[in-house]
Amino acid sequence: MADKVTLVCTECLSRNYTTTRNKKTATTRLELKKYCPRCGKSTLHKETK
Ligand SMILES: [Zn+2]
Repeated sequence: MADKVTLVCTECLSRNYTTTRNKKTATTRLELKKYCPRCGKSTLHKETK
């Protein structure tokens, strides 16, 4: 079963990306470097619900 998660920029808290992940295989919180259009640069994005 896949979980829908939102990735938020840790600097401006914009919800920039949504993705899905498998609850059974994912044990840690997602942390990804992604481009944030609001910040105008790549920032760390973390998953939220
Ligand atoms: Zn940002």
